[in-house]
Amino acid sequence: MSYTLNKKLQGLTPYDPGAGDYPVRLDANESFLTPPDWLRAKIDAALAAVPYNRYPDPKAAALCKAFGDYYGIDPAYVTAGNGLDEVLFILAACFTQAGDTLVTVQPDFSMYRFYGHLGECRQAVYDKGEGNAIDPEALVAFCREQKADMLLFSNPCNPTSLVLEREAVRKIIREAGCLVVLDEAYMDFSDQTLIREAADYDNLILLRTCSKMLGLAGLRLGFFVANATLTAAFRACKSPYNVNALSQAAGETVLKEKAYLDDCRRKVCASRDALYKGLQPLCQARGWRMDKPETNFVYLRPDDAAGLYEGLKAAGILVRHMGDWLRITAGTEKENAQLLEALAAL
Ligand SMILES: *Cc1c(COP(=O)(O)O)cnc(C)c1O
Repeated sequence: MSYTLNKKLQGLTPYDPGAGDYPVRLDANESFLTPPDWLRAKIDAALAAVPYNRYPDPKAAALCKAFGDYYGIDPAYVTAGNGLDEVLFILAACFTQAGDTLVTVQPDFSMYRFYGHLGECRQAVYDKGEGNAIDPEALVAFCREQKADMLLFSNPCNPTSLVLEREAVRKIIREAGCLVVLDEAYMDFSDQTLIREAADYDNLILLRTCSKMLGLAGLRLGFFVANATLTAAFRACKSPYNVNALSQAAGETVLKEKAYLDDCRRKVCASRDALYKGLQPLCQARGWRMDKPETNFVYLRPDDAAGLYEGLKAAGILVRHMGDWLRITAGTEKENAQLLEALAAL
């Protein structure tokens, strides 16, 4: 017997997050904050109460309630996933059918097109052009021309670090003529969220993650927010026990600490602003491009991205290299200082 991989599997390779040991990792947009001892004690107590022999709550009800309370929305419209990665996988596999048209934008989060490939979608890509920004009129026209079934984009955008204003996003949702998946993974660092009105649209799915501002990338928690019909469909097609009991318990515990999370948000935004300010003189002196970030990272176009990337690596600092650009996550004060020093020396 001989077996050949099917077409969609041929040529796929595992995701490589950048192997190697780097003292300073500013490549994955994680938070540099980790729960303090008092919060760790609370998490440990919650974990100690988990019945290991039982399946977890398939609805993750307590976790979704804590999420809803923190963001001021009804948990009836909230469903938890095993990281947004799982949610994106389900959306591509179940909310599209083979041959459907998926519209993504460029540049944007690279995983979207990977999942679209697994979902066997026809893919159409809207190019943001030199300004790195979405023109809402043009994107709507593109979706209509392409007869899009699903439009998927991040706001604020990874990697451009820019945010599209609420009214522009509303226009896209109203006029694109398809299901719109709005990935707000970084919206905690900006102020243009549509989360409180997400359930009012019949064609909007809004995504949030615990991996960025909430500092819980290790738990793998992401959230799907949408109206009752879309929520029911998502709950029907996800695997029943997708979020494990430990992540549910730990996530619920952290999401209940509003004052702590608000403080995390302030600290990460302060680090981001400091990194942006620290890079400005370098950018001016060397003619590098950098826009004001609405995320926890900056997006920088130096004259020699590949050379700087290698130089930083040699100095023990890992950032993300993306063609002519570098994406650099805001770190601790010390990490930011190390980065600026290394860049100035290169
Ligand atoms: C990090 C990131 C995610 C993935 O989130 P997880 O919940 O960790 O899987 C999704 N979308 C964007 C745009 C991201 O940058």
